[in-house]
Amino acid sequence: MQELTSRFPYRGNFFQIYSHPDCLLHEVGADHPETPDRLKSVLRGCARLSPALPISWQTPPPAQVAELELVHDIGYLERLRSACQQGHSCFMSYDNQIGPQTFRAVLAAGGCALALAQTLLGQGAGFALVRPPGHHAGRKRAEGFCYINHTALVIEAIRRQQPEATFLVVDFDVHHGHGLNFLYYDDPGIFYYSLHGEPEHIYPNTGHRQETGQGAGMGCTCNITLPLDSSGDQWLQQFEDHLHSFEKKLRPDYLLVNAGFDAHKDDPFGVMHVEDRHFRAAVRGLYTVARDYCRGRIGLFLEGGYSKGVLERLLPTIIEDLALAHLGGD
Ligand SMILES: [Zn+2]
Repeated sequence: MQELTSRFPYRGNFFQIYSHPDCLLHEVGADHPETPDRLKSVLRGCARLSPALPISWQTPPPAQVAELELVHDIGYLERLRSACQQGHSCFMSYDNQIGPQTFRAVLAAGGCALALAQTLLGQGAGFALVRPPGHHAGRKRAEGFCYINHTALVIEAIRRQQPEATFLVVDFDVHHGHGLNFLYYDDPGIFYYSLHGEPEHIYPNTGHRQETGQGAGMGCTCNITLPLDSSGDQWLQQFEDHLHSFEKKLRPDYLLVNAGFDAHKDDPFGVMHVEDRHFRAAVRGLYTVARDYCRGRIGLFLEGGYSKGVLERLLPTIIEDLALAHLGGD
């Protein structure tokens, strides 16, 4: 990672990448899909990006526990820390495997999210390449390989300085991001758009189309479900058909994207048949939304996606697309 920070030195107006070597310390066992090799694959692919690209690669300091309290319950954070220290093998559910260094990885990923929030506040754009992922985590709940909700952390860090800020959150991981969705289910300042597999057939079994928010947030959630085995063309079409439903509710100041790649046809979960070109087209379209509504302020987070080949090949091309769009304003 040091090679990447020296190859892409800090430039404030470039597209910012945030990652941290401690994110690799979360060891979950060889038979668990969410391995350090996922992020290593992304980094290996990014090492082949041209140094001439307008990319700035940074390793921000890990978050302080107190900073994570912007979103999470302190008792929950302390329980997670002590479970790691005491050598527990999982936390709150069997799929959340932990190791002695997991809390260090959690703090490192949180630090990347907080740095991304500062970039967005400064009118910039960037991508947090972190693990463990975050979109299933609730205020005091770890679930679906997630411990800290990075998207919520960015929202709250920005709101601390801009209490009236509004957000469009787009989640294209094949699993519904129920952690974030239910944290803000009644919040009219956050429009959540998620595209995922039909909840009858896939974890976390939430995110039905009729779940559209509640109270003041009624209508601010748009859950689009697709049958398992959907093609990439069907998947991509949903952005055209439904993404712009936020326009009736708010003009977002910021666009945040939960970028999961487990709808890919090569993903070992084998849920859908989305191809590289569909993901690239989706992200390009999202950049256009950010440019048209949010003055280019887009922040992305690595969520799921378990094919190391896909991560190594596809993530760098997406980063290149975003960096060129960000600098070129196209
Ligand atoms: Zn997923």
